Amino acid sequence: MAKVAFIGLGVMGYPMAGHLVKNGHEVTVYNRTSSKAAQWVEQFGGQSAATPKDAAKGQDIVFTCVGNDDDLRQVVLGEQGVIHGMHAGSVLVDHTTASADVAREIATHIKPLNIAFLDAPVSGGQTGAENGVLTVMMGGEPADFDAVKSVIAAYSRCAELLGPVGSGQLTKMVNQICIAGVVQGLAEGLHFAKSAGLDGLKVIEVISKGAAQSWQMENRYQTMWQGKYDFGFAIDWMRKDLGIALDEARRNGSHLPVAALVDQFYSEVQAMKGNRWDTSSLLARLEKTRN
Ligand code: NAP
Repeated sequence: MAKVAFIGLGVMGYPMAGHLVKNGHEVTVYNRTSSKAAQWVEQFGGQSAATPKDAAKGQDIVFTCVGNDDDLRQVVLGEQGVIHGMHAGSVLVDHTTASADVAREIATHIKPLNIAFLDAPVSGGQTGAENGVLTVMMGGEPADFDAVKSVIAAYSRCAELLGPVGSGQLTKMVNQICIAGVVQGLAEGLHFAKSAGLDGLKVIEVISKGAAQSWQMENRYQTMWQGKYDFGFAIDWMRKDLGIALDEARRNGSHLPVAALVDQFYSEVQAMKGNRWDTSSLLARLEKTRN
C-alpha cells in the first residue's frame, strides 16, 4: 500500500481520493477551502494538511486535481506548492485537464529534484469518479507509469501511457474535440425531431441501436428532451478545454473547424447564463433560435 497526498477535493478529486482510502492507501488531503477537507476526513478517515507542501511531505505519490493551468502552477510551484514538500524518488501525478505546455513546464522544474511527473487527465465525469471507473490518459516515462498504475486502479478502469510528458493532455484534447461535434450533432437531431413533431424519446430508442449510437446519445437524450441541463460536465470547463485544444491546433497546424464553431456556440450558451449547464445544453441554444 502507498503513502499518498491528494490536492484538490472538487467534484472529481473528492471521490477519487475516497477510493484511494477504500483501497487501503494512506491518504493525506489538501483543499483550498478547508471545510471541504474536514468533511472529507470525516467521511473517509485519513488526514488533512494546511498547505499542499505539508500534504506532500513524506509521500510516495502526490496527486493533483485542480481547475486550470494557473491553479496547477500555484499548488505545485507556488510558495506553498507540493514541489517544496516532495522528496527525491517520489512521483507527482496531475489529473487536472490542462495544457501540454504546463505539463512540460512542471516536468522541467521537478526533474532536477529527481521527482517524476506524469500528466494524467481523466474522462468519465462525476459519475465515473464516484463509481471509480475513470479513463486516465497519461504522459511520462514507462517506469514511472508502472510505479503508479496499481494505485490509480483504485478509481479507474482504464489507464494508459500515450507517450512522453504532455501526451496525456494531448490525448484529452482529442477526446474533447471528438465530443464537441458529437454533442452538436445530437442536439441538432433532437431539435429536428421536435420540429417534425416526432416523439424524440422513441426516435432515440430506435436509432441508438444503429450507426448513430454514441455515449452522449445513450446518457443524455432523455434529459435533453426534457430540457434539463443542470448536471454533468459544465460549459465553463468545456470552453477551457476547447480553448486549450484550439491553441494547440494553431501550433501543430491541424484544422478544427467544427470544434471552433461549437466553442462559439458554447459562448452563446454562456450568454444565456448557462455557464454551469452541462455540455448537452447546445440544444437549449437551438431551441431558442427556433423559427
Ligand atoms: P471543481 O469541482 O471546480 O474543483 C476544483 C478543485 O480545485 C477544488 O478543490 C478547488 O478548491 C481546487 N482549486 C482550484 N483552484 C485552486 C487554486 N488556485 N489553489 C488551490 N486549489 C484550487 O472541478 P472538478 O470538476 O473537480 O474538475 C477538476 C479538473 O478535472 C478540471 O481541470 C476539469 O476540467 C477536469 N475534469 C472535470 C470533469 C467533470 O465532469 N467535472 C471531468 C473530467 C475532467 P476549492 O474547493 O477551494 O474551490
